[in-house]
Amino acid sequence: MALPVRPRTIVAGLAAGSIGAGLLVSRMSRGVDADANAPKPVFGRGPAFVSLPLESSEQVNHDTKRLRFSLPNSTDVSGLTLTSAVLTMSWPQGRWFPVARPYTPISEINENGALELLVKKYPDGKQSTHLHSMKPGDKLLFAAAIRGHQWVPNSVPNVTLIAGGAGITPIFQLAQGILQNPEDKTSVTIVYGVNTNDDCHLTKEMQRFENEFKDRFKIVYTVSQPDEKTTLRKGRVTKELLEEVVPLPKDGETKVFVCGPPAMESSLVGSRKEKGILEQLGYRKDQIHTF
Ligand SMILES: Cc1cc2nc3c(=O)[nH]c(=O)nc-3n(C[C@H](O)[C@H](O)[C@H](O)COP(=O)(O)OP(=O)(O)OC[C@H]3O[C@@H](n4cnc5c(N)ncnc54)[C@H](O)[C@@H]3O)c2cc1C
Repeated sequence: MALPVRPRTIVAGLAAGSIGAGLLVSRMSRGVDADANAPKPVFGRGPAFVSLPLESSEQVNHDTKRLRFSLPNSTDVSGLTLTSAVLTMSWPQGRWFPVARPYTPISEINENGALELLVKKYPDGKQSTHLHSMKPGDKLLFAAAIRGHQWVPNSVPNVTLIAGGAGITPIFQLAQGILQNPEDKTSVTIVYGVNTNDDCHLTKEMQRFENEFKDRFKIVYTVSQPDEKTTLRKGRVTKELLEEVVPLPKDGETKVFVCGPPAMESSLVGSRKEKGILEQLGYRKDQIHTF
């Protein structure tokens, strides 16, 4: 007597189970479909080891190129956080070991489908020479993301970003990320020191920021070997220049980020033995960040 009941129970159980499983599968597949449309990050916390094709390469001055790489899908995003760099790898011909060098993307942090680098070529530079030799369609291996200082929106009312030469890339990435986040109201001042007028990069983008964020973005260029007719400031990034153009700690809470050649960074940030210009201006060590 118990036997006929058991199969019914089993059948009923299986039916209920399959309805449940059906619902679950349908929910899961809806989830998968939804996720399939969501932008996928290419870089996470661990290794990425993704090979990306070069989409375009543009010479922007005598030694620097803009290199645009396609992400695997047009909807993908880099997944990088502000102030991150990416570690690139190549195996130059005739060398025993691969070359690994970090570069800081200048594309918008949430841009779909592409990642853009601004790369200065150094004489005999292994990776920069390789990157400058790449043609559209050539692939470059991106090993991982390298996270920098964790930027917290609105953590201070204003930041000063000081760049020297090719050091503009992380400075630009941070400024762009702050200004394009509608939640972040931080004011940004960039001081950009270069050797010649021709070395000023990303000027169109900076001009756009100046027009769009008049009340909270300012950039001051200073050129150490300027053209005769230059309208830009002349000279290096000095204590006097900073005193004149940037918000100082005595006027309220602030932070300063510095990226440039070693000589410039040490004169601004100082060393264990000597105070740098920024400390002389009243910045505390915890307010000063390098990349
Ligand atoms: C976090 C981080 C982010 C970076 N982002 C960028 C970026 O966005 N764009 C960019 O162009 N570079 C960037 N760099 C520098 C880049 O990683 C390489 O160091 C640079 O491209 C030189 O590598 P290379 O293999 O061509 O030169 P190497 O073969 O290492 O060196 C060849 C010659 O160039 C000289 N040289 C190398 N690097 C420098 C330098 N920085 N200043 C002066 N002389 C140098 C060396 O002294 C040597 O004589 C970044 C570096 C770091 C640490």
